[in-house]
Amino acid sequence: MSGIRPVVVAANWKMHKTGPEVEPYFAIFRRIRQGRGSERVVVFPPFPLLELAVRAAGEVAEIGAQNCHWEPSGPFTGEVSVSMLAAAGARLVLVGHSERRQLFGETDEDCARKVRAVLAGGLSPMLCVGETIEERDAGRQRTVVIRQLTRALDDLPADGSERLLIAYEPVWAIGTGRTASPEDAQTMHAAIRETLRTVLGARRSGCVPILYGGSVKPENAAELLARPDIDGALVGGASLSPEAFASIVAASPRRQDRA
Ligand code: PEP
Repeated sequence: MSGIRPVVVAANWKMHKTGPEVEPYFAIFRRIRQGRGSERVVVFPPFPLLELAVRAAGEVAEIGAQNCHWEPSGPFTGEVSVSMLAAAGARLVLVGHSERRQLFGETDEDCARKVRAVLAGGLSPMLCVGETIEERDAGRQRTVVIRQLTRALDDLPADGSERLLIAYEPVWAIGTGRTASPEDAQTMHAAIRETLRTVLGARRSGCVPILYGGSVKPENAAELLARPDIDGALVGGASLSPEAFASIVAASPRRQDRA
């Protein structure tokens, strides 16, 4: 049995842009989009731009944060809690992006704590998983991704899957210009879907959107998004241009929500 899931196209601005760039970005994006499409559009700006982005985006996009801490408050200098993000108007939080894992030592256990904290705070976690080139070359990509997924979803609350999103982002494809072939991406997405079925059960797993990320561009988006288990895209570099991001959103297949 499967569920209904929307197409989700998300922009990860990483550590780019400052306040004065936010309003013009959404003005251009809104003009190009002209209210078209049923896709769920999400933008993840850096923390200081969250409130500005919420105001500037209006109905054209949901705003999410790129990270959070799992504790509700306390002596954690430099960290930001889920309730602070919610108060700023964020509706989603990226968890376990490969840059957090590789550059800041985030573990699967940290990701599990963050997923639970985001859900407890009423927001939606977008959990990122993906293998390195060494792991793929050793044929371990499926094992690695399934391990990341199952550990991060450890102890998920019963209603948690309703707000959960997954992004499969092979590390070797992020910011490199190398994209996974649509076949390879579909194979991994199907493996993720199968694992979700085991962890969450058939009905709940069918509702979880699985996005692909890694050098998605206007030129390759349509081919990737046409695959049955690729429910959207998480876009880094190309999302910094509102024109390019809008054309990636427009490339998502014009179809009913997937069931
Ligand atoms: C990302 O950072 O999530 C990402 C997918 O980056 P890029 O599109 O630049 O590869």
